[in-house]
Amino acid sequence: YTIKKAEFMLCAAWSSQWPDESLPEFLLAGRSNVGKSSFINTITDVNGLAKVSATPGKTRTLNFFNVNDELRLVDVPGYGYAKVPDRIQQQFGEMFETYCTERKNFKAMCLLVDYRHPPKDDDITMYEYAKYYHIPVIVVATKEDKLKRNDLVKNEKRIKEDLGFDENDYFIRFSSLKKKGVDEVWNTILKLCD
Ligand code: GDP
Repeated sequence: YTIKKAEFMLCAAWSSQWPDESLPEFLLAGRSNVGKSSFINTITDVNGLAKVSATPGKTRTLNFFNVNDELRLVDVPGYGYAKVPDRIQQQFGEMFETYCTERKNFKAMCLLVDYRHPPKDDDITMYEYAKYYHIPVIVVATKEDKLKRNDLVKNEKRIKEDLGFDENDYFIRFSSLKKKGVDEVWNTILKLCD
């Protein structure tokens, strides 16, 4: 898939701010520090499109990116770290649920998990949430370059077991460092577009 254009569109704290439903959209979810900003920059081949930040932000917005005027990536704030006020967290949770249940052009969730470790409780919760709402999931196992060869199969098995992985979903071994998995991500996203 050739990226001709990838640009930040807007961040939405409220559903009224979402763009129109004319293009297929894919949510990007994962714990803070999982490598989500690097993932966005790597698959779009635009450095700094998603800011790679050392200090996870405290904003709770859905961030929309336009790719080739053909589809959109929608970044979900990294969970498991930022201590945000309850009111903000609740407001975001409501918007997120509305998005997952009502957004007509929402196609699938990319759930990023750290390939080195078993998934954390909130990763499992997010996967179960997606399955509860019948959302197709692309599990992206990040930082593949950090694994020993022997652990590739073992860790994949463990992650799938812990998530209760549905074999109709997708599992992609990914490394921003090695640019591994980029084609597989796009092939899977394009397949899920229609
Ligand atoms: P985010 O908080 O999920 O957006 O994560 P970042 O993209 O900011 O990455 C968090 C840290 O992991 C940074 O220090 C990155 O350099 C590092 N990182 C991200 N992707 C990779 C990868 O594929 N391989 C390795 N070795 N490190 C990575």
